[in-house]
Amino acid sequence: MTLTPFLPPSPAPVASERVRTVLPHALELGLLGSHEPVVGFLDTDGIRASVAALHSAFGAVPDVLHTFAAKAASLVPVLRLLAAAGMGCEVASPGELRLAREAGFAPSRIVLDSPAKTRQEIAEALALGVALNADNLDELERIDALRPDDCASVLGLRVNPQVGGGAIGAMSTATATSKFGVALRDEGGRESVVAAFVRRPWLTRLHAHVGSQGCPLELIAEGVAETYRLAEEINEAVGWRQITSLDIGGGLPVNFADDGVRPTFEDYTRALTAAVPGLFDGRYGLVTEFGRSLLAKNGFIAARVEYAKLAGGRRIAVTHAGAQTATRTVLMPGAWPLRVDAFDAEGLPRRGPAVAQDIAGPCCFAGDMVAEARELPLLTEGDYVVLHDTGAYYFSTPWSYNSLPRPAVHGFTTTPTGTPRFAPVRQTQTLDEIASESGLHHADGLLILTNQNRP
Ligand SMILES: *Cc1c(COP(=O)(O)O)cnc(C)c1O
Repeated sequence: MTLTPFLPPSPAPVASERVRTVLPHALELGLLGSHEPVVGFLDTDGIRASVAALHSAFGAVPDVLHTFAAKAASLVPVLRLLAAAGMGCEVASPGELRLAREAGFAPSRIVLDSPAKTRQEIAEALALGVALNADNLDELERIDALRPDDCASVLGLRVNPQVGGGAIGAMSTATATSKFGVALRDEGGRESVVAAFVRRPWLTRLHAHVGSQGCPLELIAEGVAETYRLAEEINEAVGWRQITSLDIGGGLPVNFADDGVRPTFEDYTRALTAAVPGLFDGRYGLVTEFGRSLLAKNGFIAARVEYAKLAGGRRIAVTHAGAQTATRTVLMPGAWPLRVDAFDAEGLPRRGPAVAQDIAGPCCFAGDMVAEARELPLLTEGDYVVLHDTGAYYFSTPWSYNSLPRPAVHGFTTTPTGTPRFAPVRQTQTLDEIASESGLHHADGLLILTNQNRP
């Protein structure tokens, strides 16, 4: 496969327009229907345009590796598309590392971050030549023991600049007590990091991922500035340019309120330039690790309305999209609201006066609601709801609650005539696969155990 970045395609139409083009064709082709009631869709032109926007925003930086945070869309065809578009890949588990390698990323373009790397994972990453950011000083000691003499891996240390959190606690990685990285503002924290670099001439990178959704740009930029200042301090202390690159993480927030892309990657590089004037002058190579901001607005979920009911005066549309595919939204509705639109059985926008309706999912717990009292044209059986901006961290990271299958995922592109073309990304999980992953092969295990232990 080639790794040449391709030219940006013509500007992609806004997300909800693309949904209106794609949905009728998907229904006509049977990609979605009563047999396949919930499906994820990914816009490949949109993904390429987002990658191009990222590259262009950092265009003035002489040495930059943009990696995609695999957890945001852990699907091999998506990762391969991103590799072909010139991205590297950020991984945080043996599973993600495997997916990245299957997708075709060269080890030198893979970065391994994880707060819980085992000795075996570290040894394997070092043998492969994958870049690795140690989460803490104890992990550095493991690397001391495991690092081969001819190690090709770029090695870094993650720090927590402790600049504070954003609007969503669970997404804020730079609070005083975050579990990630070495806490710089703790007593002795900064000194211990400097000492760790003094002792290890092969440690050449500093890493910080300051936050994700809910964190203002200025806060993220301040965390990067703090990391930059530390790199300068360390290079001063060791007396040579030991730190040659900064991994500034990902975390650009996404606007879920409408089709607008806000903030843009350009907004972010402007905020970085203001907070860290020296960052882009080429003295440090840069690594980025964006996830949500590259994929979220390039995907949507379509789900069939199975029943429309009335309870206590409230209209409820029971759909097939719930906590198994919109996990964060269902479990933390205040932090992760999604736009929902209504379509008829042919995939045309439903018309009619807006009525407050609950958009419920198929899971058997009362809170399985994607939206409550949402004003939409009245939904009926056989209609479809679309959950917008769900290209990252939704259908690609399903939850197996109620043994519901992982939904199918299709990629699409639109031809100049406006007709979409589709390609499979992932099949719906089959009942055989569900049974197999639920211990089918050990079906007798507990019976045998209790028989053996019978007095
Ligand atoms: C999750 C994560 C990212 C990506 O975050 P987004 O908010 O999706 O951009 C990048 N780096 C690290 C270390 C992460 O844990």
